[in-house]
This record gives sequence, C-alpha cells and structure tokens, in this order.
Amino acid sequence: MTLFTICVAISVCALRLAAAQQAPASAGPPDPQLIDELVAANRILADQSVLDGWGHVSVRHNRDSNRYLLSRSLAPELVSADDIMEFDLDSNPVDRRGRSLYTERYIHGEIYKARPDVIAIVHTHAPALIPFGISNVPLKPVYHRSAFVSAGVPVFEIRERAGMTDMLIRDRALGRALADALGDHPAALMRGHGAVIVGPSIQRVVGRSIFLPLNASLQMQAAALGTAVTYLDPEEARKIEAREGYGLGRAWEAWKRKAMAKP
Ligand SMILES: [Zn+2]
Repeated sequence: MTLFTICVAISVCALRLAAAQQAPASAGPPDPQLIDELVAANRILADQSVLDGWGHVSVRHNRDSNRYLLSRSLAPELVSADDIMEFDLDSNPVDRRGRSLYTERYIHGEIYKARPDVIAIVHTHAPALIPFGISNVPLKPVYHRSAFVSAGVPVFEIRERAGMTDMLIRDRALGRALADALGDHPAALMRGHGAVIVGPSIQRVVGRSIFLPLNASLQMQAAALGTAVTYLDPEEARKIEAREGYGLGRAWEAWKRKAMAKP
C-alpha cells in the first residue's frame, strides 16, 4: 500500500468518524407522553419565572439512556412538541435540519453521562439564587417543600477550571467540570450565572426548580430579620424526602393547566 493510499484511507475514516459524531443514530420516536410532559415543563417553568428568555429543561430518552430530549434554541414559554430534538450524550443532534441549538446544551449531556440516576435536568438563571453563588453563605433548607436542599448545593466556580470565560458552558469539558462540581447532589449553583437542578423525573425536577429559588428568597428574608435562623434538621429533611412526590402530581396538574392556558 502506498503512502498516498494510506493517507486517503485515514482521511476517509476521519471524515466518516466526523460525520458519525455529527449525526448520531436515533433511538427511535420518544413516548408522546414524555414529549407532552417536557413541553409542559418548559411552559410551567416559564410561567413560574424559573426560566425566562433563557434556560432550558431536558429529559432522558425513554428508549435509550444514551440519548436525551431538549428543545431547539427557543424561549421556554414558546416551546411546543415540534421543537423537541434528540441528542446523544456528547450533545450532538440526531437530526439538526438547520435548527439553532442551545449553546449550553453540554450541561445536559455531561450530567447524564456522570449521573445514571438522573432522568431530567433544568438549567436556570433565577436571580434569587445568585447571592448564594457569589457569597460564602451556603443555601440551607428553610422550607419543607425544599427539603432536598439538605443534601447540599455546591457552588461551581468556572474560573477554577477554565480561567476567564464568558461564564457559559460552551463545550463538553466545561459541562464535565460542572458535572464534577454537582457530584451526587440534587443541584449546584453556578457563580454569577445561575444553577443546574437534577431529578429522577420531569415532575420532580420541575418541583425542585420552583422551590429552590423560593428557598433562597425565604432564607434571605429570614437572615434579614437579624436573629438566629432554624433550618430543617437533616432528619426532618430525610423524612420529607422519603415521601417526596406525595402531592406533586396534584400541583403538577394545576401548574400545567395555568401555564398551558396561556396563548
Ligand atoms: Zn446559562
């Protein structure tokens, strides 16, 4: 075999590999109910002011744990079923068709890789969380609906991993760094940026995403009163988490009806 032939063979392989990486195989059509739930999650989180023009929510594909579903780049309150796209865990779209993608989709792929227990992920810029990412005051559970905070909410300092950036999770390496900071916690704050929240279902992650900023606001208000604050005891949090999900379906239906009624 000549050197030229070897070079051509290597180039063809590289091109095929690149093409394969750009367009991973589909896991097949997702459960339509899962799509409905993901659309509702987008609308609910916008309606509840957890997501504004930015931020996103994803879910693992029901047919393949190595694929996830996420909207094309769109404000969450405008998302409908046709906007949902499939990605592999390197955050390559299966069928891009010229659609623009969320820059920070690597948050989702890298956390799904690192956390097999996670089924759904929210990335939010909720302002109430920012003070706890830029100060030395840790978020602590002050409210029974946010007992999951008892597991700890670490802060991701992007400078430690990447120096000076524009703060966005723009590639897989930064996504992996964020997943490392998250560890086995239910949420992590992103200094000066927002947070990532994970859960074992769409409904659970939506609930956590609503109650995390609320916990932050309540903790700030309690601290402003100037006296000692009584946080949830870890044992109280454990008992609440043991029955977590109780009543969530009821709240979900109400949140969904209100959010989906908007034009
Ligand atoms: Zn962001």
